[in-house]
Amino acid sequence: MTVDLGMPATPPPVLAERRKTRQLMVGSVGVGSEFPVSVQSMTTTVTADVNATLQQIAELTASGCDIVRVACPSQDDADALAAIARKSQIPVIADIHFQPKYVFAAIEAGCAAVRVNPGNIKKFDDKVREIAQAARDHGTPIRIGVNAGSLDPRLLAKYGKPTPEALVESALWEASLFAEHDFHDIKISVKHHDPVVMVRAYEMLAEQCDYPLHLGVTEAGPAFQGTIKSAVAFGALLSKGIGDTIRVSLSAPPVEEVKVGIQILQSLNLRPRKLEIVSCPSCGRAQVDVYKLAEEVTAGLEGMEIPLRVAVMGCVVNGPGEAREADLGVASGNGKGQIFVKGEVIKTVPESKIVETLIEEAMRIAEEMTDSGEIEVGTGQPVVTVS
Ligand code: SF4
Repeated sequence: MTVDLGMPATPPPVLAERRKTRQLMVGSVGVGSEFPVSVQSMTTTVTADVNATLQQIAELTASGCDIVRVACPSQDDADALAAIARKSQIPVIADIHFQPKYVFAAIEAGCAAVRVNPGNIKKFDDKVREIAQAARDHGTPIRIGVNAGSLDPRLLAKYGKPTPEALVESALWEASLFAEHDFHDIKISVKHHDPVVMVRAYEMLAEQCDYPLHLGVTEAGPAFQGTIKSAVAFGALLSKGIGDTIRVSLSAPPVEEVKVGIQILQSLNLRPRKLEIVSCPSCGRAQVDVYKLAEEVTAGLEGMEIPLRVAVMGCVVNGPGEAREADLGVASGNGKGQIFVKGEVIKTVPESKIVETLIEEAMRIAEEMTDSGEIEVGTGQPVVTVS
């Protein structure tokens, strides 16, 4: 049976057009309103340990990370940058605090961009001319990364605490110094741990400049809390078209940050959706263990690259409706599961066979989509034909 999965001919709707920005290239990745929102993360290894850092970058690359940042707190780290930048498969941004000399080292090393924190770099303003010159000579963009925890002391004194106004003033002041030297290859972040302050700061910044913005809720916390804070804050901004790169900061392995970031973008249709499980929360009507079923189906389909919506429903109240709307679904009841493929019941199986049947059908659909050329082998993305 050939399955018509109804791949959309036009891109799925988004909540707002992207805010128009300048464009820049971070290595091979375009950043700005003409390019997709990209996902960043940061390594947790000692950067000077080149093998360990490259190993972690490879894991991040495999998880879908677009751009990676590495810390550079010492000369040994600065010395390692060239090898890391050369061997990494994704663009590497060097993250510089305190020592201006490492900014130059990172540019010389061929890093795809350099993040500077003006509040933390001694006499940063005096160095802007030289940094702009070196960055221009090498085609290296600069991220001005203002952070609530290390705000420029002058602005802390002026505002008393890292308010949205203080964060924005710090960022725009530094950007203006670069602009004085006719350097505009800049993206900006104004991170705060509080999503309310962070969202307000980015909204203000978006109104006052056309630089691409890198979104982050800094020190967002352990995985559960950090995921929620980031999803709420990024959602508020991305739904208005604000944000060009994102980094979810979690007290968890960086691959987890990437997974959350990708999921946020997919939820807003800013990135093609892949596997999506639509499962009910269960209730007193459930005639099957929905939690277990949903977990087993999710685990069985982990890594599936095709865009597939799978409905796992606990009873016949909403089950058939949701299962019919999905690409693949089950409505459970009376110890059995009705299996739906694209709106049609294709079979009814005993409860013990639901998971394996759904997985088999998903694999069959994936194969058909790949064979028919609908999905590009290796990328999992729909083939787009330009006429
Ligand atoms: S589908 Fe059925 S079991 Fe699941 S939440 Fe709805 S009514 Fe309850």
